[in-house]
Amino acid sequence: MPVREEIHDQIILGSGPAGYTAAIYTARSNCCPILISGLEPGGQLTGTTLVENFPGFPDGIDGPELMEAMRQQAEKFGTVFVHGEVSRVDLSEHPYKVWVGEDLHRCRSLIICTGASPRMLGLPNEKDLYGRGVSVCATCDGFFYRDKEVVVVGGGDTAMEDALFLARFATRVTVVHRRNELRASQPLQQRARENTRIQFVWDTVVTGILGDTEKGVHGVQLQHLPTGKEEEYPCDGLFIAIGHVPNTLLFETYLDLDDWGYILTRNGTETNLPGVFAAGDVQDPFFRQAITAAGTGCMAAMQSQRFLECLEDADCKKCHSLQKRRLVSQTED
Ligand code: NAP
Repeated sequence: MPVREEIHDQIILGSGPAGYTAAIYTARSNCCPILISGLEPGGQLTGTTLVENFPGFPDGIDGPELMEAMRQQAEKFGTVFVHGEVSRVDLSEHPYKVWVGEDLHRCRSLIICTGASPRMLGLPNEKDLYGRGVSVCATCDGFFYRDKEVVVVGGGDTAMEDALFLARFATRVTVVHRRNELRASQPLQQRARENTRIQFVWDTVVTGILGDTEKGVHGVQLQHLPTGKEEEYPCDGLFIAIGHVPNTLLFETYLDLDDWGYILTRNGTETNLPGVFAAGDVQDPFFRQAITAAGTGCMAAMQSQRFLECLEDADCKKCHSLQKRRLVSQTED
């Protein structure tokens, strides 16, 4: 197969809120960015139903509709879409190299918005019931569980935060944890333990989800690990909070990552490499919201613009960042 080599100013990896926002901003600056959409165009929001907390939609908007609107907005200003998954990158020299299948694309600036995937339990009907009683985002879906009963799986900070948030709406929140001690930080643990709406089921795993796509979830199957005993536990919703896996495998030899594999950023969205920026969940283990992802996508686009201006003019005073200093020292070497 022939190798196609192109050099672009900007390549954006990922098509969630961060990627599309970065594309809207760069395209509006006449930069004709290339956006490589990945295998799941639209990202995590395409798997959700009503999004009620994205500003500008007082009646809420369906996740897939929101993402399609963002895609159209990015396209309108001249974003070029490449459908497919990045198979390999080479960030060892500038311009950077990105392969989609056998096609090589080169760029002066790379904006990484590859997101993070929620870790799932791996149960057979988990995907079918996603958005129909199964959720990975309490902030997004908690509101729908007013006066209902929910189960949260996990024992980390996210599980405690989710349980505390859900306890504002639900009558009962049951945290199911596979061990008998929590991984979460002490203050969060304490707040969760003191909340009368939250109860804990220890040494227990969820082995099944009861429900169907029409009526949603009506319970979970639990197994107590020390005894092997199984029971059906009624609930209206299951919140899976067992961690996220940032999609950073391709970059781990080039970029500084934190202990959990998230890309480390500084001065906004800069990474340790000049001209490489990261936005959205791939660099954010804490907020993980569509609006925060979109916000950092905007920041990455603006910082990338400034970087390109610096490339044109090493004396440029518009950029005072660490990247500028690195770029200048690199140019002087
Ligand atoms: P995490 O710390 O990795 O915790 C994941 C939890 O899920 C653990 O309790 C783990 O059990 C459990 N788990 C993992 N796989 C499981 C499975 N297959 N079945 C059942 N349980 C499973 O993830 P996180 O809570 O999302 O936190 C990620 C990072 O973000 C952490 O650094 C955390 O401190 C940070 N964070 C901080 C805040 C805050 O400071 N406010 C809020 C959210 C997140 P084990 O304990 O047995 O391993």
